Amino acid sequence: MTIMKSASLSKLSEDTTLPVTLADVEQAAARIKGHVARTPLVFSRTLSDRSGHPVHLKLETRQPIGAFKLRGATNAILALDDAPRQRGLATASTGNHGRAVAYAARELGVSATICMSSLVPTNKVEAIRALGSNIRIVGTSQDDAQEEVERLVESAGLTPIPPFDNVDVVAGQGTIGLEIIEDLPDLVTVLIPLSGGGLAGGSAVAVKALRPQACIIGISMQRGAAMHAAIAAGKPVQIREEETLADSLGGGIGLQNRVTFALCRELLDDVVLLSEEEIAAGIRHAAREEGEVVEGAGAVGIAAILAGKIQPTGPTAIIVSGANIDPKKHRDIVGAAG
Ligand SMILES: *Cc1c(COP(=O)(O)O)cnc(C)c1O
Repeated sequence: MTIMKSASLSKLSEDTTLPVTLADVEQAAARIKGHVARTPLVFSRTLSDRSGHPVHLKLETRQPIGAFKLRGATNAILALDDAPRQRGLATASTGNHGRAVAYAARELGVSATICMSSLVPTNKVEAIRALGSNIRIVGTSQDDAQEEVERLVESAGLTPIPPFDNVDVVAGQGTIGLEIIEDLPDLVTVLIPLSGGGLAGGSAVAVKALRPQACIIGISMQRGAAMHAAIAAGKPVQIREEETLADSLGGGIGLQNRVTFALCRELLDDVVLLSEEEIAAGIRHAAREEGEVVEGAGAVGIAAILAGKIQPTGPTAIIVSGANIDPKKHRDIVGAAG
């Protein structure tokens, strides 16, 4: 399942200019300080015993919305000038990014419009409405909702806040990398959930700048791993979306990807893919052994170690990216044998 045998360090020549720099991430950290949680990096006794090296969990589950996406959304909003701030924001996500935009917009006193299709379940619609955003129900697909965002950008001058392919969003997510190096300066390996690549790309910018010898591994599910397919093909490719326990990792990277593909191609040392059973074991371990409710996407780093697909060789950090799983689904997985 691996695709890049740690060749990226040698590939990364001095004159490679990447779309996001350490300075961008440091500026984001200064901006979002006080607006998002400075999350803990906690030692995991069970994973350390199992692997023979210290393993730590970076708990982004402790963010106010239960996921790291608050960092990028907050940074992107704070980076706006007064005029676009007054006109407001638009996005089409109903997942963690939508929650993040809604929450950050309210905190910062900016209006946000979240576009969604009529097929989005009522509980998701109401969760976003409760965060104080305007809701627009249009069409019957995510594409219809995205087209409505583009209309609002055209007609009302709203600013779109994309979920990953945006320099300010990526720099905001990258602040996680800064915090990990602060707390674990002798880091050897960091495991990062990987979908559109904002989290992995941004964190990798910070980690590789401050500790170039650290190894950065992206983790996705076998079902529809878009960035993995793009890196293998050398360019963004269309992938078939499939249902997965790691639902926050679903979706493509965009055929016109501008930021995150270049970052992930240059900075990730490897990408590991997991089966649904392996992801379920990660969720179960997080609940039973670590006392943490973790969604599928957030549990993939833990799952990769449990499955033996990653063998730590020194101090290891796992980004546990989110907590937002349906409670019944969580009970079923945690209660199951295994
Ligand atoms: C969005 C998300 C990811 C993936 O982040 P990308 O920047 O798209 O790679 C991982 N985990 C959770 C919980 C998320 O919400």
